[in-house]
Amino acid sequence: MSLTDLTLTEAQTLLQKGQISSRELTQAHLERIAALDGALHSFLHVDAEGALAQADGADERRRTNDEGRMSLLGIPLAVKDVLVVDGMPCTCGSKILEGYRPPFTATAVQKLQAAGMVILGKTNTDEFAMGSSTENSAYGVTHNPWDLKRVPGGSSGGSAAAVAARLAPLALGSDTGGSVRQPASFCGVTGLKPTYGRVSRYGLVAYGSSLDSVGAFGRSAQDVAAVFSAMSGRDELDATSQDVPVPQVDLRLNGERPLRGVRIGVPQEYFIEGIQAEVESAVREAIRQLEGLGAEIIPVSLPHTQYALPVYYLIAPAEASANLARFDGIRYGPRVTGNSMWDIFTKTRGEKFGDEATRRIMLGTYALSAGYYDAFYGQAQKVRTLIRRDFEQVFTQVDAVSCPVAPTTAFKIGAHGDDPLAMYLEDVFSLPANLAGVPGLAFPVGFDADGLPVGMQLMGPHFGEAGLLRTAHAYQQATDWHLRKADIR
Ligand code: GLN
Repeated sequence: MSLTDLTLTEAQTLLQKGQISSRELTQAHLERIAALDGALHSFLHVDAEGALAQADGADERRRTNDEGRMSLLGIPLAVKDVLVVDGMPCTCGSKILEGYRPPFTATAVQKLQAAGMVILGKTNTDEFAMGSSTENSAYGVTHNPWDLKRVPGGSSGGSAAAVAARLAPLALGSDTGGSVRQPASFCGVTGLKPTYGRVSRYGLVAYGSSLDSVGAFGRSAQDVAAVFSAMSGRDELDATSQDVPVPQVDLRLNGERPLRGVRIGVPQEYFIEGIQAEVESAVREAIRQLEGLGAEIIPVSLPHTQYALPVYYLIAPAEASANLARFDGIRYGPRVTGNSMWDIFTKTRGEKFGDEATRRIMLGTYALSAGYYDAFYGQAQKVRTLIRRDFEQVFTQVDAVSCPVAPTTAFKIGAHGDDPLAMYLEDVFSLPANLAGVPGLAFPVGFDADGLPVGMQLMGPHFGEAGLLRTAHAYQQATDWHLRKADIR
């Protein structure tokens, strides 16, 4: 077995026994990146030298300290290029940050570095995480490892593709409206969007500040759980991060029916006309399997679901238009010269932002402008409250809600090229969790006729990540979809 095929637990066992070193593990991933990433384009920046130095540090730490049990020590990690890492470029997939090197590290990354993880590099993303396909990156699209003609999803498409192609065992992403879960689904890996406020946003370049969360990709719920626990928790540098105890997720399962006592809701609003038939059937089959594992399946309703899409596409662009105001050619990145301050702003922003970022800035500025604020942004906030209440109400009846991650499997590159609305519809099942602030977990539950992975989503109550991870772990112990490998060599 190749070192890049190891799960986190397997790698850790071999590291602890001294049968492999972190340098060897890291080297194996760097070699696979060198061999395959030309075709995939999942990385925007690979730091081979830095990674090997960190790996040597981890090997040294393991030799000299009694830290052998730290589960992430010496394990490689890929980081979406919207999280800053001191010493590495951060572009957010945008020309407006080309060449920018931040002088600090995001708290989530810094915590994982402290746990001994080895940063391989930065992964491709839609510009400022705006998109569902990675096609909005100014640096070229990432290809789906299951079919190179298709998108990996987005916006964290680089991280999802890297994990699916075994270029990295684990990766970080960000999820504002589905950007961890939808690419996880398209690439057949496990991806967690934690509760809003669970993981510090410090050092995550802001898109929609009331929706953004830092999430993780891995090849199993068990692997994702380790990263989730290590990066979570209150951070003084992010006032919205919550001081809630971080669980060490208990994944021990008992007996044939480990999900006994777990109530799983099936919301009727998420099984609507227009979903690809194979997506619906794979998800329904997975729900039956959860029932077989002991869970009680209960039909539920989230009645305001249909408003999530328009509400999100007012709130997210509104917040984005304010957040992106800082990119003016003066403070960060390249500058297009002009004959006045305004001239510099206009030219730099006009030339360096791509079409989707520009569209969002215009939509958001309009939604926030005098005379329209109440009608658009204010109204959207009110409906957001109703969506949040739907979830609060449902979680008095069930422990988790199960549904598709996205209405389709991975689509062809260019398929939604001139139709932003078709692209926005990809997020119809993932946006509600961000509007409500609840956690969501995506994991593979089958394939369609073209051999493309289908993902299922579990959403849970605020700070209920452990329950979602446990349910997915029970499913993964009983099935092997998550072990299937994209045929890319
Ligand atoms: N696709 C959604 C958007 O474009 C969500 C992106 C995200 O979660 N960052 O806004």
